[in-house]
Amino acid sequence: MNQPVRFRPHHFLCALGFQGKGYSDSFTQNMAGVVAQLRGPAGGDTRIAVTGQADSLCAPCPHRRGQSCVKAAQIAALDERHAQALGLEPGQCLTWAEAQSRIRKHVPPGSLSDLCAGCQWLEFGLCEAALSALHRD
Ligand code: SF4
Repeated sequence: MNQPVRFRPHHFLCALGFQGKGYSDSFTQNMAGVVAQLRGPAGGDTRIAVTGQADSLCAPCPHRRGQSCVKAAQIAALDERHAQALGLEPGQCLTWAEAQSRIRKHVPPGSLSDLCAGCQWLEFGLCEAALSALHRD
């Protein structure tokens, strides 16, 4: 069986909203590959391990510093809010289908302005649009 993808808590919603924007070409290419797996025919069965450190999306990020980040305080705050909203803890493993179900249940449309406060991608509205689409499905 393949190793699970590793996500820090706020990356569940980032993966839902991803539309090809990122911090560098290698970051974007890597994230596009992970997201393509999640959105593929058997994507809902993809296992995702929750981590409190740099994860499968952070790996090629130019902001990563070892297992941490140049914006560590801001990222920790994002992770804390998202972990609380979705009931996530490091060490848990869930499928992408289960993660989407938690998002539907616990993250109503319009919540990202609070949940994702400080994120540079918030203003594009892509993540809110994906969240609304998930609730319509
Ligand atoms: S606004 Fe930022 S933190 Fe929130 S889901 Fe989008 S990319 Fe992730």
